[in-house]
Amino acid sequence: MGPDFVLMSDPVAPFDHMEAMTVGRELGKLGFLWYEEPIHDYDMYGYKQLADALDIAVAACEWNAGKYFTAAQFIQARAADIIRSDPSWKGGFTGFLKTAHLCEAYGMNCEVHAGCTPLMDVANLHAACAIKNCRYLELSIEEDSFGLMAGVSPDEDGLVTAPTDLGLGVELEWDTLRSSAVAEL
Ligand SMILES: [Mg+2]
Repeated sequence: MGPDFVLMSDPVAPFDHMEAMTVGRELGKLGFLWYEEPIHDYDMYGYKQLADALDIAVAACEWNAGKYFTAAQFIQARAADIIRSDPSWKGGFTGFLKTAHLCEAYGMNCEVHAGCTPLMDVANLHAACAIKNCRYLELSIEEDSFGLMAGVSPDEDGLVTAPTDLGLGVELEWDTLRSSAVAEL
């Protein structure tokens, strides 16, 4: 990939506190941009220790219950350098925007993580475009456009463009959705 390729680490909470500190120090030396969810997201005390001790930016709060109310506790405690957020975990677009604006007021970025379904990725892209303190949109490598006529697709430079039609701006592929459904109301 070379030295110009931006890297982040998201190990999804495999470490105890000491292991998380050791790995974070090494990732910092290697120039990673951020260190995400090294410990469980509800462990705010542990995150406070990491954020205080490490030079690398610590990202947290992706899946915590409590939406922006919980994110506010992390922000106020300075228990993370970056808050992870998206509409599905933070109470819809309104909850997401409240989270992002709280981050902005405290000088923090609110980075949008993967939606895990093509339709949620479209929603996340719109959300990311609606705030100023998000630099990256996370997409799964195995991403396809299941259920959509066209999904979010990065160009050769890794850039994505939001649809401009009404609503989310995408057309559902109903035949695929219906053939995959177990029930229809
Ligand atoms: Mg994550």
